Amino acid sequence: MFDNLSGRFNEIFQQLRRRGKLSEADVDAVLREVRLALLEADVHYSVVKSFVTRVRERAVGHEVSKALNPAQQVIKIVHEELINTLGEPDRLNLSGPKPRVVMMVGLQGAGKTTATAKLAKILRSQGERVLLVAADPYRPAAVKQLQTLGQQIGVDVYTREGVKPPDLAAQAFDMAQKSGVSAMVIDTAGRSQLDDALMQELQAIARRVPVNETLLTVDSMIGQEALHIAEGFRDSVKLTGLVLTKMDGDSRGGAAISIRSVTGVPIKYLGTGEGLDALESFDPRRLASRILG
Ligand code: GDP
Repeated sequence: MFDNLSGRFNEIFQQLRRRGKLSEADVDAVLREVRLALLEADVHYSVVKSFVTRVRERAVGHEVSKALNPAQQVIKIVHEELINTLGEPDRLNLSGPKPRVVMMVGLQGAGKTTATAKLAKILRSQGERVLLVAADPYRPAAVKQLQTLGQQIGVDVYTREGVKPPDLAAQAFDMAQKSGVSAMVIDTAGRSQLDDALMQELQAIARRVPVNETLLTVDSMIGQEALHIAEGFRDSVKLTGLVLTKMDGDSRGGAAISIRSVTGVPIKYLGTGEGLDALESFDPRRLASRILG
């Protein structure tokens, strides 16, 4: 992952290490490369622009002129700013009365259903009594998929054929409350594109059940488009977190940087494989190190 980006940074920093003192021109030359590397990694240009400006402000002048090793100083600043841009790790908010509700949203193919099952597995390992809810009654294949995943991880799946998703979520909540379920994870319907009907349905579900977390699952492989999708959901639904999937592919990581920076919604998990254990809590330090190589 991030081969291009980390390779590029390595090259830049090798050059830097060979130099002694760092002039303003040196900083600019390096930042030109940083800018290119980030753009090539599909980071949105406005995000790249403000990132580079922040690094430049810190690198030129005070800190660098006082530093013993200017090259290391610039590396440190780029690293720190990348961590700042990616944001602090943010845990799932599972406070309040039980059952706590996590609503998974996203477009078809993003990896939402897989992430739903992965998350259920994590919650169960933390001692929660979990119920999965298949709130896509129009697509029998989606319901079946969740049922199969539920069986694999040993978690019950609530589904009612033909019942509209907001009603279905409310019924599942009632049942969960009565049967001592502590965490309910709703797999909402996926669509092939952003549309009003989908957003209205999500809003209707959120009116019927007290949602603790609304997590948007986005495919990190789709580059700039991921930002557009995240903005579309953010404008209609109150997102509390992001799950970036397929980080095991050759995605360049630009999506993580752009989405976090533009929407302000914290990244909570990274999907790193098809297996049901392949969901990592987001750690900006680890991701920044991977990006920088
Ligand atoms: P949904 O339509 O959003 O519910 O997407 P699915 O959960 O059905 O996933 C679509 C495809 O992506 C499936 O083949 C999954 O196995 C695969 N997938 C999901 N998450 C990941 C991931 O983190 N890494 C990889 N490599 N594949 C994933």
